[in-house]
Amino acid sequence: MAAPAPAPVAAPVSQVYTWEPSNQVLADRYGLQPSDILRFDLNTSPLPPPDLAAALAGPFDPPLNEYPDSMYADVAHAAAAYVGVDTAQILVGAGADEVLDIIAKTFLPAGGRAVVPIPTYSMYGVLSTQRGATLDAVLRRPSEEGFGVDLDRMLPRLAGADLVWLCTPNNPTGAPEPIAVIGQVLDAAAALGGRAPIVVVDEAYAEFSPETSISLIDRYPGLVVVRTVSKAFALAGMRVGYAVAQRPTIERLERLRPPGSVSTVSAAVAAAALRAPDQARRNAAELGLERDWLAGRLTDLGLPAYPSITNFLLVPIGSMDAAEDLTEALLRGGIVTRTFGPANPLRGHLRLTVRTRTENERLLGALQTWQAGRDA
Ligand code: PMP
Repeated sequence: MAAPAPAPVAAPVSQVYTWEPSNQVLADRYGLQPSDILRFDLNTSPLPPPDLAAALAGPFDPPLNEYPDSMYADVAHAAAAYVGVDTAQILVGAGADEVLDIIAKTFLPAGGRAVVPIPTYSMYGVLSTQRGATLDAVLRRPSEEGFGVDLDRMLPRLAGADLVWLCTPNNPTGAPEPIAVIGQVLDAAAALGGRAPIVVVDEAYAEFSPETSISLIDRYPGLVVVRTVSKAFALAGMRVGYAVAQRPTIERLERLRPPGSVSTVSAAVAAAALRAPDQARRNAAELGLERDWLAGRLTDLGLPAYPSITNFLLVPIGSMDAAEDLTEALLRGGIVTRTFGPANPLRGHLRLTVRTRTENERLLGALQTWQAGRDA
């Protein structure tokens, strides 16, 4: 007799993660040219990617007729040398986002629970609900305390949790989490022994920060640090990210890694960039100076941003209505910013990516025009 068909499993309800509309869509909507659109919403680099001709030191001819090496050994080797671990401690994926997805698939079972301090990068919520897990969101400390992780509220939630999503420097608030706080979360997790949750530290903006959790990896088998070449390395279009952890943890992630999601071209470019990280460091330093300049001008306009060490600024605009009105005014001028919906604790704020001086001046001009119209 045939076995009874398995009961259907209800698909988890999850949000669809999309970026703001494309340049073409916005241009059509606002009667502009796509080249008029300036993206202040994606936290990418306006500065050029590394000088690949110099970094490659030879002809650039990745074999396009062949599949990439499924372990991306060149990228893993370059990333390992860059962060100072063994190559076997690296897992490469199609951007940090795919790495985060593989982590969720590996460590977050359906019906499980992920703890996350909010506000933070929204993909953690998307990935957790996609897995059919509960998102246990813990509010961060207030802005006056740098939006730090609230350990008093968070540590008691670790028992019985499967995973903790941490992000430092945190997107969208821009502040780093002191390494001592990360250490306290790791200690509290480790104290749970065999039932310790995995602790993910997303360091997408690591190159902007003086601190990293990489050195903690030796001590904590449950720590996974996530990096990318999308931000300071200015290679967002290449889609390359990587996880760093102890070997047994990487080994578990490898089981759920797709074999060829990073193209041969992307792997070659990312490996070359990681072998020559000085330009990324220079980019981060230059953008840091520009960020401070932009923050100063925003303050002059009466729109002070929260302190940030990253390539973006979070600016309280006032009410949700005011933020929506400003967003729309900026869009009419071809300026796209990151907004936050009514359910987000950051409604009434905008996040602005730091771009070049000329581009930042265009943003400031548009802000002034909006203020003048509002005050008229
Ligand atoms: N983590 C954080 C905190 C991010 O801000 C981003 C990009 N917005 C990512 C991960 C994803 O980066 P990638 O381009 O490498 O997928």
